[in-house]
Amino acid sequence: ARADATRPAAGYTYPYQDPSRRVADRVSDLLGRMSLDDKVGQMTQAERGAISTADVTTYRVGSILSGGGSAPSPNTPAGWADMYDSFQRAAVATPLGIPMIYGLDAVHGNNNVYGSTIFPHNIGLGATRDPALVQQIGRATAEEVTGAGLDWTFAPCLCVARNDRWGRTYESFGETPELASSMTTVITGLQGPTLASPASILATAKHYVGDGGTTGGRDQGDTQVSEQELRAIHLPPFKAAVDRGVGSIMVSYSSWNGVKMHGNRYLLTDVLKGELGFKGFLVSDWAAIDQLDGASGFTQQEVTTAINAGLDMIMVPNDYRTFISYLKAAVQSGAVPTSRIDDAVSRILTKKFELGLFEHPYADRSYAQTVGSQAHRDLARQAVRESQVLLKNAGGILPLSRTGGKIFVAGKNADDIGNSSGGWTISWQGRSGNIVPGTTILQGIRSAVGSGGTVTYSRDGSGIDSSYRAAIAVVGETPYAEGQGDRTGAMGLDSTDLATLQRLKASGVPVVTVLVSGRPLDIAAQLPDWRALVASWLPGSEGAGVADVLFGGYNPTGKLPVTWPAGTSQEPINSGDGKIGLFPYGYGLNY
Ligand code: BGC
Repeated sequence: ARADATRPAAGYTYPYQDPSRRVADRVSDLLGRMSLDDKVGQMTQAERGAISTADVTTYRVGSILSGGGSAPSPNTPAGWADMYDSFQRAAVATPLGIPMIYGLDAVHGNNNVYGSTIFPHNIGLGATRDPALVQQIGRATAEEVTGAGLDWTFAPCLCVARNDRWGRTYESFGETPELASSMTTVITGLQGPTLASPASILATAKHYVGDGGTTGGRDQGDTQVSEQELRAIHLPPFKAAVDRGVGSIMVSYSSWNGVKMHGNRYLLTDVLKGELGFKGFLVSDWAAIDQLDGASGFTQQEVTTAINAGLDMIMVPNDYRTFISYLKAAVQSGAVPTSRIDDAVSRILTKKFELGLFEHPYADRSYAQTVGSQAHRDLARQAVRESQVLLKNAGGILPLSRTGGKIFVAGKNADDIGNSSGGWTISWQGRSGNIVPGTTILQGIRSAVGSGGTVTYSRDGSGIDSSYRAAIAVVGETPYAEGQGDRTGAMGLDSTDLATLQRLKASGVPVVTVLVSGRPLDIAAQLPDWRALVASWLPGSEGAGVADVLFGGYNPTGKLPVTWPAGTSQEPINSGDGKIGLFPYGYGLNY
């Protein structure tokens, strides 16, 4: 109970409640009042669908997440804010009134919330080579996340993707540490001038460390490199993130030379918290502690190993009761020192105080109107323009003229925002279809041409004849996320795309090919046939940005963020390794 007798003149019962005090003093005052239950609760993160609000109070759970797009109903900014507030009321009802923090994967805009602006995935942002633009995207994303009542994103992914087979290549800014490090400006955008500023949210650099370097590009695999190479290739973006004051870092599912990152005390505690001076908190990946001993589920020993390695918060995400009982028992037996628990809890509380959650625990609904706003869509369109990489332009067929002729558009990715957006859009794996509002590439082409010409669309390319001036084929990948995207075979175009291209080619009309994909595809064999080729990556909800480049409204500036292999068998292929691909890292034409 709160003792009114100690309430100071300002109206606060305890020093930790007084916003005029230094955060460090508030943290130590609060920590001194916390029971083991309070502390262990702060280190627990449960999935929203797995916990009741009553249990948030009972177990003093410090954090909730939406994993894999897990959304409330209705999936609107207000629906999310209402859900947030109901969890927050439950947290504030605990004896010490410590607010919870709510995390989700806003990895290309606030992509779980219907109506949000969907920005290009990181691979496209890497192609822009424009850190200032990426900082603005961070800011816009923070406003849209705030508009849905939330305060923490599991982004940016700072993986340095070294093998394009990896299904998370599109979550990477590119294959070099310099490129990924340069794009940590997004953290400054997300977190704002200070965490206390309006619409600042907590960012998460992930996945520490070496997630993009696994053998064979296997998701959650083993990164078999020397410490020197780990430090040279995979560590630098995390150093850049720490230097920008990133509030949290997520540990990678992957292993380094056979040791799971979630159990690696040297890399988590000695290197990251010690040497690099990381002051925020470390969160686990989804159920990652289950993997420490190779058997399914988690044990008290796995909990002990992860916390002693340096994890501060565990994304359990479902069986939070067992986690809490194991961690308490581990502390009571001395297996986990109290000093480790106090360090973890202090790190978490510090960020909650810095965010102003104690003063303003409930959703800030004043940002709801920024969700999917015209200003944000304009910014996304600019990002799409800048992310297009012109790879081939034989005879200068591009840019196309807006006037005087018939344009034929074909391909499964021409009129499909779901395909343009890729994974992590509304749901974890993403989905084909116009699943979010926005403009498809076809719609962008139609408005670019306007009344100056005619645009005919046929998904599979049938109906084309020689009366057309140009055909635009929009082909490539369909959505996937994480392990679902790993490729063991060739990474070529599918039979649907090849049939579409064949129909267009047979007509004799010059074809411009737009590749919508999260990584380079194996196209070397088809390339001689193609007049023009544009790598569009996964542009998101503003397809007009692609049309801006095709019709010369924007002279392309995008540069390859990865080396484009001449064939899948060249993987891994990276700049500086002496292999000659189809197009080198940094390649990109203009008009
Ligand atoms: C992914 C993380 C993500 C987490 C929560 C995991 O499967 O590896 O990148 O943040 O899920 O959705």
